[in-house]
Amino acid sequence: MRNFFMGILVLTVLTSPVIAQQSCYSFEYQQQALRNNPGLTVAVQQVEQFILTQQGSAPVLQTASIGKGNPLITIPVVVHVIYNKAAENVSDQAIANMIKTLNLCFRKMHPDTIKTPARFNGLSADCEIEFKLATSDPQRRATTGIIRKYTPASNWDTDDKVKFAAQSGDNAWDAKSYLNIWICNLRYADGYSSIPGDEAAKDGIVLSYGALGKTVVHEVGHWLGLKHIWGDEFCGDDGIDDTPPQSTATPGCASGIRISCSNGPDGDMYMNYMDVTKDACVNLFTKGQKKRMQALFKNGGLRYSLFASTGLKEPLYQETPLPQDTATATRPTILKQPTLFPNPASNEVTLDLGNDLQWVGKAVYISNAQGLTVMQHQVSAKLQRIDVSRLKAGMYFLNAKREDGVTIKQKFIKL
Ligand SMILES: [Zn+2]
Repeated sequence: MRNFFMGILVLTVLTSPVIAQQSCYSFEYQQQALRNNPGLTVAVQQVEQFILTQQGSAPVLQTASIGKGNPLITIPVVVHVIYNKAAENVSDQAIANMIKTLNLCFRKMHPDTIKTPARFNGLSADCEIEFKLATSDPQRRATTGIIRKYTPASNWDTDDKVKFAAQSGDNAWDAKSYLNIWICNLRYADGYSSIPGDEAAKDGIVLSYGALGKTVVHEVGHWLGLKHIWGDEFCGDDGIDDTPPQSTATPGCASGIRISCSNGPDGDMYMNYMDVTKDACVNLFTKGQKKRMQALFKNGGLRYSLFASTGLKEPLYQETPLPQDTATATRPTILKQPTLFPNPASNEVTLDLGNDLQWVGKAVYISNAQGLTVMQHQVSAKLQRIDVSRLKAGMYFLNAKREDGVTIKQKFIKL
C-alpha cells in the first residue's frame, strides 16, 4: 500500500538492485513456497476445492451462533511481538488499535465505510467475523494474547524465520485454535500471509511494526483465502463473482471511475481491502468475498477447528506474568483445584473439574487408607459422578495425573 509506488520510483531512478518495500508480499511468498515444496500444491488445491464446493451454499454455522441474530465467528488471536530496538516493541495500545481496526473493517463498521462509492454500496458486506486477543494460552494459562520477545536479529525477511524460536523468532501457537500474528522489523514488505493449507507452524500473518493500520485487514483476508482483487495477473481472476475484473494493483489513493478489463460502467473496485490502495482509501469487502472467507468455517473447512478453540475461555491457571519473555514461564499455579462433594459421602461422589476439559477421557483412581487402588473411573464430564456405594466405610483418596503433570489429590470419607 503505502510505499509501493515510492519503491517503483526509486528502482526506476537508481536502476540498481534496490529491493522496494512493497505493501503485501503474500503472492510472491506463496509462489515461492509452492516452488520450494511441491507437496504443498495438493494441500492448497484441497482447500481451494473445498471453498469452491462450499461458497455457493448458505452459511451453516450453528456451533458459532450467538443469540438469535446471524452467526458470528470469533477468532482468538495471539500477537508475537519480536523486537530488537525499542520502537519495534509496539505498545499494547497499538495492538489493541490494530485488533479494533480488524473488527471495524470485518464488521463493516469502520468510519471509512461511508466512503464506499454508491455504485458498489450494494455489494459491501458485514463479514460477521470478529477477532479477540486470547485469554488462555494452549496450556490454558492466563495470557494477554500478546507475547513480547527480544531478538538479536535486527531485521527479518519473508522467509518465515520469525515464526521459529530456534531462529530467534517465536513459535506459533496451535494454528487450529489461534490466528498467529507476528510483528517484527520486516524488510521489503508491510506484511504477508501464509497460504491456507500450509503447515501449522507457518500458519498466520507477519506484519512490519511500522504498518499496523489496515495492512492487517488485507493480510487476514489472505489468511482467510482471499486473493488480490486483480487476481495477481493482468485482468486475472480472484475467484469472486461480485468483484469486477481489474487490470492490476492500485497503489496510492485513486479516485473516480477507472475502467480496465472492460469493467465499465462501474470500473475498478480499487477501494476494496484486497487491493493495495492506501489505508485511508480502502473501505469494503464484498458479499462474494465474505462467502469465500466463511466457506473455510464450514464443517470440514480449514478454519472450522477454531470453533473448538479454548483460546477465549477463562484460564485455568494463573501465572506470574513476566514482563518480556514468556519462553521461560514459571510453573503455573492452579486457579481452581477440582473439588469433590459431598464429603462424607454415602452412595455417590461428584468430582467438579471446573472448566478443565483436559480431564475428559482420563482415568481417576480411588485408593483406600492402605494405599490399595479399589476403583478406577474414566472421566466423561465436567461434573463427574462416581458411584461409591459398593465401597466399605472408611477413608479414601481420589488421585489422577495427566501427562502434562497436572494432578488431582482429594480425600473423602465413605459412610
Ligand atoms: Zn496481499
